[in-house]
Amino acid sequence: MYDVKEIRKDFPQFNNRKIHYLDSAATSFKPQCVIDSINYYNTALSVNVHRGVYELSYKATDLYEEARKTIADFIGALTEEIVFTRGASASLNLVAQSFGMKYINEGDEVLTTELEHHSSHMPWLNVCQKKNATLKFVELTSEGRITVDAVRKAITPKTKVLAITYVSNVMGYITPIKEIVKLCHEKGIIVSVDAAQAVPHMAVDVKDLDCDFLSFSGHKMLGPTGVGVLYGKEELLEKMPPVEFGGDMADTVYKDSMTFKAVPYKFETGTPMIAEVIALAEACKYLEKIGLDMIEAHENRLARLAIDELLKIDGVEVYNKTTDTGVVTFNIKGVHPHDAATVYDREGVCIRAGHHCAQLITRFLNQISTTRASFYLYNDEEDVYALVDAVKKAKEFFGSF
Ligand code: PMP
Repeated sequence: MYDVKEIRKDFPQFNNRKIHYLDSAATSFKPQCVIDSINYYNTALSVNVHRGVYELSYKATDLYEEARKTIADFIGALTEEIVFTRGASASLNLVAQSFGMKYINEGDEVLTTELEHHSSHMPWLNVCQKKNATLKFVELTSEGRITVDAVRKAITPKTKVLAITYVSNVMGYITPIKEIVKLCHEKGIIVSVDAAQAVPHMAVDVKDLDCDFLSFSGHKMLGPTGVGVLYGKEELLEKMPPVEFGGDMADTVYKDSMTFKAVPYKFETGTPMIAEVIALAEACKYLEKIGLDMIEAHENRLARLAIDELLKIDGVEVYNKTTDTGVVTFNIKGVHPHDAATVYDREGVCIRAGHHCAQLITRFLNQISTTRASFYLYNDEEDVYALVDAVKKAKEFFGSF
């Protein structure tokens, strides 16, 4: 049985607070086991990894590398294929800076979509500008979805890379990644997947998807801030140059030459986010204990209830009525999202207002800004009705001007 009340007990952020936290797509709350794990490293260890020749450092290194194994297993990868970064943005940039700058040439085409977060779109725009290559866009359906057919139509003999989101942070749609990867591989196209909104909310298996790269952040999946993951197929990571140089990634260094460690270490320069990586593994274990399939179904049920209830309010526009996940994006006609969000805040409802770092899809919706409620494993129907009541209050308040 899925028991939200029990789940909430694991999250101290709810303690003694009347809060309807509907902004988990921005960042999630953290369970006690993750907080304990960070505290354990900082209090009991607090030493570096891969360097010290003493007991404590061995222990920290073991925990750090065990965490890599847990996180690799969580997405069906090999440990060699897991590169730790600062977050999804850093992972997506690493692919573009390393693979893109080496393998994209003048006249090539990179394919992407208007559903991308800026962190998926902009690194490739930069590569294309620098390399005189062309950034092309897959045509979305009228409701803003990516289809396999549209990707097929956008591919040309010049297409080298597809940079694509798995789950849109604005529309909450799930992209048919597996079919798209199959299609791209038939044409020799490399696929980089932005899974920042997928890995926290659904079971993801990189070997089943067969994607070449997959990026995500720790802080959106109950883990700490400041840590993220780049999954890359080992044979691709091996062919890619590092983009940062220095401590820990070096093998031999001379005045005029240098060699690097094997993957994934050649991409992890300097002292890593040790506490954060270890705690991220705890977040993975926690999510697995609850069950990703259960979480996915729970969030979508709440989102659909929210959409049904919001649509009953005259003047509310919902932009993703068929959301596949826990994301609901809407506006009250004639009310600026930031104004509305301040009323929601007074009601204890935390939601995001703005362009959500995705100006292309916001423009596609003919909006400058929207409000987004995002549900996660610890939300319940009370949160949905609190949101709906807050929207009614905002409408009354601004409607009277
Ligand atoms: N991609 C998507 C779809 C996102 O929602 C986000 C975070 N809003 C990112 C990438 C970037 O993640 P981070 O800020 O953790 O680097």
